Amino acid sequence: MATKKLLLLAGDGIGPEAMAEVKKLIAAMNEKGAGFAIDEGLVGGCAYDAHGQAISEEDMTKALAADAVLFGAVGGPKWDSVPYEVRPEAGLLRLRKDMELFANLRPAICYPALAASSSLKQEVVEGLDILIVRELTGGVYFGEPKQIIDLGNGQKRGIDTQVYDTFEIERISGVAFELARTRKNHVTSMEKRNVMKSGVLWNEVVTATHKAKYADVKLDHMLADAGGMQLVRWPKQFDVIVTDNLFGDMLSDVAAMLTGSLGMLPSASLGAPDAKTGKRKALYEPVHGSAPDIAGKGIANPIAMIASFAMCLRYSFSMVAEADRLEAAIAAVLDDGLRTKDIMSEGKTEVGTTAMGDAIIAKFLA
Ligand code: NAD
Repeated sequence: MATKKLLLLAGDGIGPEAMAEVKKLIAAMNEKGAGFAIDEGLVGGCAYDAHGQAISEEDMTKALAADAVLFGAVGGPKWDSVPYEVRPEAGLLRLRKDMELFANLRPAICYPALAASSSLKQEVVEGLDILIVRELTGGVYFGEPKQIIDLGNGQKRGIDTQVYDTFEIERISGVAFELARTRKNHVTSMEKRNVMKSGVLWNEVVTATHKAKYADVKLDHMLADAGGMQLVRWPKQFDVIVTDNLFGDMLSDVAAMLTGSLGMLPSASLGAPDAKTGKRKALYEPVHGSAPDIAGKGIANPIAMIASFAMCLRYSFSMVAEADRLEAAIAAVLDDGLRTKDIMSEGKTEVGTTAMGDAIIAKFLA
């Protein structure tokens, strides 16, 4: 009997093209008895076209009931002038908000075959495997007051408020410590306690959470600016980095570029564990957008989407062996020299979306 409920929201542009490869993979796994129950819905511009909303209530209900949501990408020039509240991105923001996805996981893995194409020296990035855990629902992006006020003297004042409560820091650091235990058991917490009160509290709460529940994990603290520098100097010193919404936004983009193309980068967003089942709400998505410039051409790189599904296997279904095997299949196909256009280099074989997906699935099943 199918017990693993997945909702697929492919979205717009290259979203459906990349998702098609994951659908083939799930079908192949189901033939071997994996037991995924698949449902599909609309999000973004396609949902607006169908329902006048960026996601329908019916699809929101399905998302809340699913064990995990796989999300493609949303947006495109076709919807540039739709009303703000129903713009394509509003569908993703609604999912994050209603599913209470407070922990954003962004791995930066450098596949050996692509190490030479990084903007950093090969020895700096080769074999890199770090995970940035970013707080996603608090901090300066949401804190109040948030406004521009007229000072009446020809001047205006823009105000954003950086604010964190103890529970928010406890729960995000708890996620980081738990993930570290499944990796190299090392967490680096980044804040700016030298100039920010929220940084002082962040540091105190991470330290206390560590002492109370996770003393077996190695913990370091680093100022976020120094952390940015260390990320490009010697990123392999890190295992799991935990940081707030603002610093996480920037540091995860820095880490992403260590590894090359946008078409390679997966992500996961997790909520709190359910009191009864212990399962976390979860949404998995590639970091890239809908890439309207290449949509419909069959050349999109499906690896970010497939690697997002690998994260789903690992974090939502504890299918660690399968996740490892899928990530190894991606690495093996790259080793064989297959490349989509975005990661193509001299002497390699250029393939389209479908051929890349097929090759990864074949390696995975072999
Ligand atoms: P983008 O990520 O869609 O594309 C940036 C560049 O990277 C483009 O040249 C694109 O062709 C290339 N690219 C991206 N993914 C690729 C892949 N898998 N394979 C090969 N090449 C790839 O960002 P953008 O151009 O700034 O935005 C396009 C649309 O996507 C906009 O409407 C934007 O709002 C939306 N967007 C959505 C999300 C999301 O759904 N989470 C994220 C970012 C942007």
